[in-house]
Amino acid sequence: VEISTAKHHSLFSEKYKNVHINPNVRGASVVEKVFSAGNQFGELNIHKHIISNLEKHKYTLLTNVQEKAIPEVLSGKNCLIRSQTGSGKTLTYAVPILNTLVNITPKLQRTDGVQAIVVVPTRELALQTHELFNKLNTFQWIIIGQICGGENRKTEKDKLRRGVHVLIGTPGRLLDHMLHTAAFNVKHVRCLVLDEADRLLDMGFKKDIVRLVEEIDSHKGNSSYDPLAMLKGQKASKTNEEKTTQNDERQTLLLSATLTKGIAELADFTMKKHVYIDALDES
Ligand code: ADP
Ligand code: MG
Repeated sequence: VEISTAKHHSLFSEKYKNVHINPNVRGASVVEKVFSAGNQFGELNIHKHIISNLEKHKYTLLTNVQEKAIPEVLSGKNCLIRSQTGSGKTLTYAVPILNTLVNITPKLQRTDGVQAIVVVPTRELALQTHELFNKLNTFQWIIIGQICGGENRKTEKDKLRRGVHVLIGTPGRLLDHMLHTAAFNVKHVRCLVLDEADRLLDMGFKKDIVRLVEEIDSHKGNSSYDPLAMLKGQKASKTNEEKTTQNDERQTLLLSATLTKGIAELADFTMKKHVYIDALDES
């Protein structure tokens, strides 16, 4: 299955014609240093317990990408976020997701279903991301879970049956449970994160991701958005103008260290409209 169509190529060149793609930054360049931009988490419009949890773990100053991205993510927009490895991208989605879930009234129940799905390329990253969420989440009614193939499927099924609000996992396992675990309902997913999107593509997960997105969207009754048609290169059922209307039902966040044609295509496939946040090579 190929996402790429002539239409996508033209969208790509139009939207990204002014974006400089530096071939030297692909994956390999790892920036050890965390760039501090200076503003404090305490100045963000987020729940005060999240701020104190961040501070407890020595997250006080926002990094550059956090400063640029968190306000956009908080406002509910779809975002494509690019910055170096090690620049602090995880918090750009973990903080807003948790903040949204904390503010839901009445309080989230176990039975309310998965609200956010975070897709990462490796088991190790799933565990790390899970750990970070749990550091910030001292709200006992909000459940963070991960499924990445480390446990047996039965244990994972049980976990899903008991109820999870933020689910972190690798593409294959997430898709497996989406298709085969009745208790895993994607109807209430309000945020989809594709983290390390460049690595997800490099590792050959495109097909799984396409299926994942289709699966989520098929439960939204969202007829104006037809990923399958787009995938097959068919004419979209709606005009371009209608298509750029923001889909309020699901927020999508794509994070990557590089901006390649593949990433741009993935962005076009998963988001009708998005903001591009480039925090590369700035300090
Ligand atoms: P990326 O996803 O961009 O590669 P991570 O989110 O994994 O970056 O963060 C890289 C490292 O920087 C982690 O060890 C994380 O704990 C640390 N970090 C992230 N944000 C901050 C911050 N605001 N202050 C201090 N350390 C941070
Ligand atoms: Mg990361």
